[in-house]
Amino acid sequence: MIEFDKVSKIYPNGMKALTDVSVKIEQGEFVAIIGLSGSGKSTFIRCINKMHDIEAGKLTVNGIDISKLKGKEVRSFRRNIGMIFQSFNLVKRISVIRNVLTAFVPDLPDWRKFLGIFPNENKIQALEALDNVHILDKAYTRVDQLSGGQQQRVALARALAQNPQIILADEPVASLDPVTSKQVMRDFKDINQKNKITILINIHDVDLALEYCDRVIGINKGKIVYDGKSSDITQDI
Ligand code: ADP
Ligand code: ADP
Repeated sequence: MIEFDKVSKIYPNGMKALTDVSVKIEQGEFVAIIGLSGSGKSTFIRCINKMHDIEAGKLTVNGIDISKLKGKEVRSFRRNIGMIFQSFNLVKRISVIRNVLTAFVPDLPDWRKFLGIFPNENKIQALEALDNVHILDKAYTRVDQLSGGQQQRVALARALAQNPQIILADEPVASLDPVTSKQVMRDFKDINQKNKITILINIHDVDLALEYCDRVIGINKGKIVYDGKSSDITQDI
């Protein structure tokens, strides 16, 4: 479970990006965070994996007060959280499978890290993750030869290979065309249902959020202004 208790985030320039945010997200939920650009969506999800520290309140993830985590503890905490970005953050000039294998680098002994050699077990896990997002046939293709939607699937496979409890996705479909966006949202939904992974996704397309996510949280100027089930909203329309 993820619990924000009166959390505030103030950037060094004085910008108050989150103000007194309180919300609970249960394991296995698929939540859309919606709001205009600059409303605080990225800040909200980046606080959860400690990419940003908070200035006030308490942020608990699976029972751990994350502000207390230090150094090594932060690294092992982050192993439980897959991160997806709008710009995919892949290494473009190497193959798809090598990109997914990077998920295992932190667990490798130094000599394997140095030589870049992965155990067969990791290769099988990487191929399984690619199969889960329907892109197994591209495993040995170079990333720069794939479409945007395919690249986002590779990023999703890399996050999955980590076997995370939580996936945080910052505008994962913002740079994709409408048809591809739907396919990628479908993959997120399948993963959420099949693997019971909690997924939080920043998205500015409300229709997509309502169609695929179970719950919608609206943020405006750093405050939660709406929180409800997608099915309730759809009935209203
Ligand atoms: P969103 O994801 O909804 O676009 P952000 O969380 O990125 O919103 O930003 C919330 C507010 O905080 C914006 O006003 C943005 O300009 C500001 N902000 C974001 N990151 C920083 C930063 N590193 N330093 C200062 N201000 C920031
Ligand atoms: P996003 O909406 O995906 O967060 P942005 O373009 O808002 O993308 O932000 C890109 C990067 O710049 C982020 O690391 C964010 O924290 C930082 N940033 C955003 N707004 C500001 C700001 N006003 N001052 C300093 N850094 C900022």
